[in-house]
Amino acid sequence: MELETRAVAVNEKGLIGIVRYKLSADEDEIILRTIEAGICGTDKDLAMGNLPQLKLPPGQDYLIIGHECKAEVYKAPPDSSFKEGDIVVPMVRRGCGICRLCKLGMPEYCESGEFKELGIIGVNGCFSEFFKDELSALIKVPKGVEDVAVLAEPLSGLEKAMDQILSFQRGRIPWRCDDGSMNCRKVLIIGTGPIAFLFAMLAKSNGFNNIYISNIRELRKDEIILVNTLDLKFYNSKDGYLQLYKEIGPFDLVFDTTGLPSVAAEVLQYMNYNSVLLLYGFPRKDDTGILRPKIMNEIVYKNLGIIGSVTGPKWGFEAALNHLASWKSQYPTVLDIFLKTKISFDEIPDYLKRPKFNEIKVIIDFNK
Ligand SMILES: [Zn+2]
Ligand SMILES: [Zn+2]
Repeated sequence: MELETRAVAVNEKGLIGIVRYKLSADEDEIILRTIEAGICGTDKDLAMGNLPQLKLPPGQDYLIIGHECKAEVYKAPPDSSFKEGDIVVPMVRRGCGICRLCKLGMPEYCESGEFKELGIIGVNGCFSEFFKDELSALIKVPKGVEDVAVLAEPLSGLEKAMDQILSFQRGRIPWRCDDGSMNCRKVLIIGTGPIAFLFAMLAKSNGFNNIYISNIRELRKDEIILVNTLDLKFYNSKDGYLQLYKEIGPFDLVFDTTGLPSVAAEVLQYMNYNSVLLLYGFPRKDDTGILRPKIMNEIVYKNLGIIGSVTGPKWGFEAALNHLASWKSQYPTVLDIFLKTKISFDEIPDYLKRPKFNEIKVIIDFNK
């Protein structure tokens, strides 16, 4: 089967634009039709030529980007577990096939560095009207969550990050409070982007109820609604975190979405004994942060855990879809705000060139 399709392509220098190409598939291959896709910072970095990890697929002089996808099975191979019309989301990280962890089905912890990533490293992504993918990389979306499934990818990586935090703590101390809840634990989320708010919802679903979210500017209208609906507390961090520390005391869990070493170095001074800093952001600005001896001393003396985390495993996508299903009834306003800005396929190049979005999330609607 062969069909002509349009897609958004980049090379090492950045955005090429919309390309047309012929997609051909054998009998045993699956063809997917993209329904929705999310744009994230990685896509913008790719469009600006600012992502050194980028790898073109073998034999191709461009890469089709897009990794936050919701797609419909357009042609299913006979005798597969998929059928035409099924709604699926693809995983991003693909195992190297060489290292021990990839062989165990855990490409999110790949140890060879030879992994691939959909729309980023060596595999064409879903900013394409139609695309092909490996059957093993697809997760079927259960009925009832199809309308919010485009958020499964960004949430899948957070499921893994939360699992890392909880497993790490479980391995060393009883982290629950005296009443058996997590209510005494103070969480600080640095940043107010989509990842920050998704993490806040996930933290709530894991029992954390004392959550601060921060930015160096005042909140926009939608962000205020999210903060209020999720019962978070906003802190303006333009003068640093000392004031917050003085008001509420040391933080038990800090989740960073900014990737700025100076911010991490500062908050490390205000953390509780046996607390965790999870680093999730990639630096997008130059920064001069360094770990001074005083901060190193804090890390050692207080048994601080500093954990990095990237990409979502298959179980993370499944957990994400389950959480989204419950958030549909718990936080409908929040999901509405996440999904309200829909652009058409033709508008993608324009949006990719924008340095910043004012919207919480921008979704491409391929039916628009
Ligand atoms: Zn992304
Ligand atoms: Zn590997």
